Amino acid sequence: MINDDIMQMHWQHDLLSSIEVGIVVMDKHFNVEVWNQFMENHADLRPSEVIGKSLFSLFPEIEESWLRGKAEPVFNLRTPVFIIWEQRPYLFQFGTNRPITSDATYMFQNVTMFPLSSPTGEINKLCMLVYDVTDQALGKLRVERLNDELQQMSCVDGLTGLYNRRYWQERFDSHFKLQRRRDNTSTAMMLDIDHFKNINDTYGHQAGDEVIKTLARVIQKSVRETDLAGRYGGEEFAIILVDSNQQNAAKVADRIRRLAEAMMVEHEGQQIKFTVSVGLSEYRPDIKSNMAWLEQADQALYLSKHSGRNCVSTWDMVGADSAPNPEQAKA
Ligand code: GH3
Ligand code: MG
Ligand code: MG
Repeated sequence: MINDDIMQMHWQHDLLSSIEVGIVVMDKHFNVEVWNQFMENHADLRPSEVIGKSLFSLFPEIEESWLRGKAEPVFNLRTPVFIIWEQRPYLFQFGTNRPITSDATYMFQNVTMFPLSSPTGEINKLCMLVYDVTDQALGKLRVERLNDELQQMSCVDGLTGLYNRRYWQERFDSHFKLQRRRDNTSTAMMLDIDHFKNINDTYGHQAGDEVIKTLARVIQKSVRETDLAGRYGGEEFAIILVDSNQQNAAKVADRIRRLAEAMMVEHEGQQIKFTVSVGLSEYRPDIKSNMAWLEQADQALYLSKHSGRNCVSTWDMVGADSAPNPEQAKA
């Protein structure tokens, strides 16, 4: 009988030693009772150095009130509790044996805590399992970082397929520098959906997105491949019509306006109509910067909004109208 018990203890000890998971058993006061080989190796503390001692005195980096709070359901509700690395990268500050080139300084850990009951059914101990999830965590972090970089590098707006604002701005900057030395003029166009807030409020945000996509397709169809069309803001678009003077640009703008007005957007059984307002400004050599040029198109757009929307205005109409600010009136 004694032999049997010793045999059993022996293989149980082997099991605890060889398993690649940290096993810690503690009483209600977080005094350590079992400390397996994994914990010994990574914490560099032998069982004789930890048994009977409080986990918090051994590892001051563990926030006592937080862990006690976290472990409460284990004792009170007899339910297991999980701490995943995404919440907290690690509980025990263990180093990693990963190559120095790896970006992990510490071992990422998932931790499970569950109740251990006595023969009388009382819960007076807690078992903690510590899993090394460094490889998994690094993999996920790497993918996330890569995705962020790709997003950054991307030139295209996800919703509409037009240039995104950052890339559009970059292209606009270089176009402006070239424009100054070119013989042909170009025209800047700013375009904004009318009462778009109402569309969102009436039909929902997704329906609003459908409207934005529909308008983007209309724009794409109406401009040349060499033109620079971008989504400038939520429902605002900026387009440089290359080699187009104001007169030609106004034709393009009005075509977009009419096509948009004729569109019927279907979304989940709803039929949505919308209109757009447009502002235009033709490049002239006295325009000092690309942003001043765009600002003129924006002022013209503002005039369209004030003239009742669903129309096209040009910068010279703004000047002729009321010269909203003396700086621009001079230009
Ligand atoms: P106005 O005719 O004067 O332009 O009126 P408006 O209601 O269109 O006014 P404004 O341009 O200020 O409102 C734009 C709204 O567009 C505000 C914002 O909630 C919404 N919006 C911005 N980006 C998106 C988007 O990507 N999708 C959707 N569905 N709505 C957006
Ligand atoms: Mg709007
Ligand atoms: Mg707007």
